[in-house]
Amino acid sequence: MSRNFVKIVLMLIRQSIPCELLSHPVLDQKQVVLQVLRLDQVHPEVSGNKFFKLRYNLQEAITQNHQQVLTFGGAYSNHIYATAAAAKEVGLATVGIIRGESLDSKNPTLSFAKSAGMSLLGISRTQYREKNHPAFLELMRQKFGDFYLIPEGGTNSFAIQGTREILSLSQSDSSHVLVPVGTGGTFAGIAASIFSHQKLLGISALKGEGIRDEITDLLRAECIQTKGSIELVTQYHQGGYAKWTAELISFIHWFWEVFKVPLDPIYTGKMAFACWDLLKKNYFPPGARILLVHTGGLQGNRGFTQRTGIVLPTPVM
Ligand SMILES: *Cc1c(COP(=O)(O)O)cnc(C)c1O
Repeated sequence: MSRNFVKIVLMLIRQSIPCELLSHPVLDQKQVVLQVLRLDQVHPEVSGNKFFKLRYNLQEAITQNHQQVLTFGGAYSNHIYATAAAAKEVGLATVGIIRGESLDSKNPTLSFAKSAGMSLLGISRTQYREKNHPAFLELMRQKFGDFYLIPEGGTNSFAIQGTREILSLSQSDSSHVLVPVGTGGTFAGIAASIFSHQKLLGISALKGEGIRDEITDLLRAECIQTKGSIELVTQYHQGGYAKWTAELISFIHWFWEVFKVPLDPIYTGKMAFACWDLLKKNYFPPGARILLVHTGGLQGNRGFTQRTGIVLPTPVM
């Protein structure tokens, strides 16, 4: 298959994203409409927001004539999983630099990445902090050969070019859009594409207020001036990044039973939890049309079960 052909295949899969209308007596009582934009269904392996963050990066790697991409992530990273799958689909080799020296052979994320052809290298947490230094990258070039670099979490200008397109694929005219926030690349792209009557709420998956400055810097660097209003919500982290509470886990089970929408405990579960809590506290005015952006992350549920023994509702992928 020629590279151009596969490239187009990757970009055109499922251009219309399913948007599901949820129904529940509480929604009627509060007189709001709640929809979920299922980015988790955009592609079987290159799921969620990572599909959008990777597409123009891979296109750029190909345009620059690279044969390989290198990126970073934790051992259960959605970004590592999606990069391995997407790059394979467009015929690029991949290197994944993983935080933590010993790579667990039973880790489902890393097993998948390996089976997709990704070369994996585990490095210590100390080394990981130095990963963007030119000397480290030069060492990686000596070890693996030339590569196109995608940062940890995948956020750069090409990623934001992709996340700007997320809402254009939704048919819903919402008053409120909710999205989980990690590095903020998805939030930034959506902030760039909302209209003046819309409000974007970013639900931070991380503990602390540092994310506010990071987002401000990101919006400035990308010259994004939103037409609507944007707000970061930082009180739903449940203890911090990748931390969880029993309440969150029961909520994820409840959400599945009631709406048949699977969630992950790192990002989308915290966002949906925040939405339901804000709803109960009358944050949304009557007449609000709320859109939850389901950013995927369900591959991580298997690793979560492996780590904690807690089984989460996860459709077969
Ligand atoms: C990576 C990821 C996010 C965070 O996206 P950012 O653009 O880094 O803010 C949110 N949800 C899921 C499921 C993810 O995998």
